[in-house]
Amino acid sequence: MEILHLNCGLLKTDLAQACCHCLAIVDGERVALVDTGIGLLDVLQPDDRLGRALIDSAGFRFDERRTALRQLQARGIAAHRVTDIVLTHADPDHTGGLADFPDALVHVAAEERAAVVAGHPRYRLPHFDHGPRWVEHGPSQNEWQGLRARPITVCGGVDILLVELFGHTAGHCGVVLRTSDGWLLHAGDAYYLRVEFDDPQHPVCAMAEAAAIDNARRLESLDQLRRLRDTLGGSLAMIGYHDESELSTVMDQTPTLQ
Ligand SMILES: [Zn+2]
Repeated sequence: MEILHLNCGLLKTDLAQACCHCLAIVDGERVALVDTGIGLLDVLQPDDRLGRALIDSAGFRFDERRTALRQLQARGIAAHRVTDIVLTHADPDHTGGLADFPDALVHVAAEERAAVVAGHPRYRLPHFDHGPRWVEHGPSQNEWQGLRARPITVCGGVDILLVELFGHTAGHCGVVLRTSDGWLLHAGDAYYLRVEFDDPQHPVCAMAEAAAIDNARRLESLDQLRRLRDTLGGSLAMIGYHDESELSTVMDQTPTLQ
């Protein structure tokens, strides 16, 4: 088994630039993705899928080669081998690639799915037109390092955890995997940039606050991540979805799963 770190999208405005840091968990013939970035249909039909206002405000940049589909194909991995997709949440920069893997089970927190069904305007319904095979995960009694956790099995036998990091959206979660080095935590959009942990005056903090559905919950989640960083030290590899500096440090690494 190995974990691939893929940059499946670029968001670029005059003020900021962000990546779309997805994971591919490769377990023999089966593959699971964590988030899906900007998809092939977004590249082909950006206005229909995303809308011009969002494209301009978020700075979506389109390049077919950057899609998860094309990057996996370049590694000899056909789309049908992707059996599971785990979403940290359902914002459009995370769901664009869903339609490129229509047979995959799509795991998401029940609260997030409910917010999509309720029609919250932050979500882009065209991303779900193909009829994803949703698997909703509700609260459980499990905990991981003091966070409420929801166990998921992907690829027919790989155990991972959805951990509650609510606030950015109603059901935003991190994804935890055990690796040969300790723990890998994909924190989604619980922070945009690592600097948010230590510099509350940084301009990105205002962006994060503006995008949050519940800013108090978002700040609680950020506190939890800060605590994990300080207590777990080197046994925790934590990555966010949008921080390019983190991506560059892990792109060359492919930690194995235990
Ligand atoms: Zn995002």
